[in-house]
Amino acid sequence: METVIVNVTDDNQDSEQIREKILAAGRIIKQGGLVAFPTETVYGLGADALNPQASRRIYEAKGRPSDNPLIVHISSMEALEKIAERVPEQARKLAEKFWPGPLTMIFEKKELVPLETTGGLETVAVRMPGHPTALALTEAGGGFIAAPSANLSGRPSPTTAKHVAQDLKGRIPMILDGGPVGIGIESTIVDFSEEIPMILRPGYLTEEMIRNVIGTLRTDPGLKTENPRVRPRAPGMKYRHYAPKGELILVSGAGEKVREKINELARKAGEEGRAAGIIGTDETRGEYRYGLVKSIGTRADEDTIARRLYGILREFDELDVDIIYSESFSTAGIGQAIMNRLLKAAGHQIIEV
Ligand code: AMP
Ligand code: MG
Repeated sequence: METVIVNVTDDNQDSEQIREKILAAGRIIKQGGLVAFPTETVYGLGADALNPQASRRIYEAKGRPSDNPLIVHISSMEALEKIAERVPEQARKLAEKFWPGPLTMIFEKKELVPLETTGGLETVAVRMPGHPTALALTEAGGGFIAAPSANLSGRPSPTTAKHVAQDLKGRIPMILDGGPVGIGIESTIVDFSEEIPMILRPGYLTEEMIRNVIGTLRTDPGLKTENPRVRPRAPGMKYRHYAPKGELILVSGAGEKVREKINELARKAGEEGRAAGIIGTDETRGEYRYGLVKSIGTRADEDTIARRLYGILREFDELDVDIIYSESFSTAGIGQAIMNRLLKAAGHQIIEV
């Protein structure tokens, strides 16, 4: 299958031209096809969420396990009422505060939503994205777009159209290229299908930001343990994820000791003939003396780290490194989501110094 890459940024075209392109993408979705598109978090792979055959195509294109449900993207509160059985007051408050934006909420599903979209579950995950292209495509495609991240299953999530093409070229008919995304890390998932709301996946919105709006909030205990018998409640969180091709090892501890350890490990890898990569920060990159050193951003603004996280893993793939050593980050605020993704990418390999 030929994959057409369509530029929807506003360089050299007016809004009418962009609109035409998005309407064409919407027609592909209405006919049951797939379109990758930018959102403010990461690029999504969209299909008509109410068409079981279309949802199945997403799983096929990504090689995604069939028990891993999809997030349904909407562009209005009326759309939410059509697919969610019961929307608690607390969820409405969160929607008011954070939608459109990087928040996904889970509700009991209505009959209208096929089990193919929810990975066989009786609940549905819903998000109203903040990116103008994502909202426009949702409307053009019929109002309900199922969209997981637009990567091959297990690979780092895409933050540019080029990343999408690396994974899905030849497997889908269209990629809308809206330039690099703004946030770079997935939405926070809050489950409202049971009595007490629960965070199932840390994301760009922090626990504190959500608690400030709704008060009571728990976090899935399955996220905080490596015990394989305690399964995370979001089926997707149990898989190894976001993995670069080279082995990734995190090093955690006091700053200077971490740098010493990473230098020692990278030197040894080099001596053994293995190509090593190092993930440092703007503050520390100059202190590494071995291997290929890259900065993931500045500790003074962790949003920069979230934005570059997946891209840096893909860059090391292109450089064919055998092993990557990375600094660790504090788990406060957005750091919780950053460390959750890094630990998963590393298969939980972490060295404490
Ligand atoms: P992705 O869109 O690739 O970021 O993945 C969506 C995430 O949402 C996965 O971790 C899914 O397991 C999770 N998810 C989607 N729907 C549900 C649901 N109904 N219940 C629990 N988790 C869900
Ligand atoms: Mg994903």
